[in-house]
Amino acid sequence: MISEETHKKQGMLIVLSGPSGTGKDTVLREVVSKDRTLNLSVSATTRPPREGEVDGKDYYFINKKNFLNMVKEGKFLEYAKYCGNYYGTPFSEVDGLLDAGKDVILEIEIDGGCQVKKRCPEAVSIFIVPPSIGVLRQRILNRGIDNINNMEDRLETAKKELKFAGKYDYIVVNDNLEECVLNILSIIKSERMKSFRINYIINEVL
Ligand code: 5GP
Repeated sequence: MISEETHKKQGMLIVLSGPSGTGKDTVLREVVSKDRTLNLSVSATTRPPREGEVDGKDYYFINKKNFLNMVKEGKFLEYAKYCGNYYGTPFSEVDGLLDAGKDVILEIEIDGGCQVKKRCPEAVSIFIVPPSIGVLRQRILNRGIDNINNMEDRLETAKKELKFAGKYDYIVVNDNLEECVLNILSIIKSERMKSFRINYIINEVL
């Protein structure tokens, strides 16, 4: 007898990480625009909004007290402190969608990425790397969004983060944007066909 559970399609959780300056945000935007079935999780952060950022769209901008309260109440799938600010993925951003069989993509730093993989081993983790450290340095400096100390801070953090790339399921080099996006879409497409994810269709075939 087949249980109800085996009929149910569970959404796929995808974790995308990569050091600051790897072009992660652009890659993510392209991936989501090319695969409209993907849902982007909105994180909570204690970082102040940058110009043009919208609360509830780019992040939920909350203060440290509220963030730590949410931590205490177990409201985060994962959270981490990054360059002096807290960032976290609220369960409310992912649980409902995954249960409804929808795929959710998280763009988070490496500490959080490793927490997700530990909690949800079936999640697909992808690490984006720059073609070289020289290119990364240039990209970080070109951004000019933070003060110089923060930029140096980010470069140092990036170098440390690169050492953890091997902990992810996939490493994708972002040298050419189009190719990088296609590679990520291919990973997602293949992962969707993993037998443990789509076992439920066998019941329909039989
Ligand atoms: P930014 O301040 O530039 O928007 O983000 C800084 C870093 O925080 C990026 O590496 C980004 O991927 C990461 N980040 C954004 N949201 C989350 C989150 O919910 N959890 C974790 N662990 N990192 C996040």
